[in-house]
Amino acid sequence: MKKIIFFGPPGAGKGTQAKKISKYLNVSHLSTGDILRKKLLDEDELANELKSIMSSGNLVSDEILNSIVASRLKNEKDRGFILDGYPRTLKQSEFLDDFLLQTSNSINFYFNININFETLKNRILKRSSEESRDDDNIDVLQTRYNEYINSTQKVSNFYKDKQSTIFFDIDGSLQIEEITEKIKEIIKKS
Ligand code: AMP
Repeated sequence: MKKIIFFGPPGAGKGTQAKKISKYLNVSHLSTGDILRKKLLDEDELANELKSIMSSGNLVSDEILNSIVASRLKNEKDRGFILDGYPRTLKQSEFLDDFLLQTSNSINFYFNININFETLKNRILKRSSEESRDDDNIDVLQTRYNEYINSTQKVSNFYKDKQSTIFFDIDGSLQIEEITEKIKEIIKKS
């Protein structure tokens, strides 16, 4: 069963592609952003804490993320999965790699969707009017983009270097369907 990780800056379209590819392969789509947004509905203390971090565009703590992902992967690891939005820090990637090693699992593909900041800005503004996410505005986007450059890009570069044969850079400025086709072709080839 396929195990895949999607990387890319906020608004690159990784969520859209992860959803499409998870249907295509019939594996779970684990979006940590979606999981956290669901937790916000609990309206408890944790939800309040998460809300203030997420609406500012900063990253939630590694402890919270690692425990969410570990509990979900325990159920999904044998059926395959697509991770979307995790790992975002080197600590998270160490935790994930340890977890996979201990459970005798490995990743089949890393897809890194690239896009420039101008294109991203236009997309995020469009999404903010469609989905009314309160982390979709220019100031917050700048913070989220900085988090991506300062933290997550180091993680994707680490895998690009370490796992170069299964790491694929994808042009995120293409049309959604074109991107999906490119990803499917890569999956079919191997
Ligand atoms: P996303 O929908 O993936 O853009 O995630 C929305 C927000 O959830 C992010 O801006 C972070 O505040 C939080 N988040 C999601 N995934 C992670 C992660 N792996 N580590 C830390 N924070 C995360």
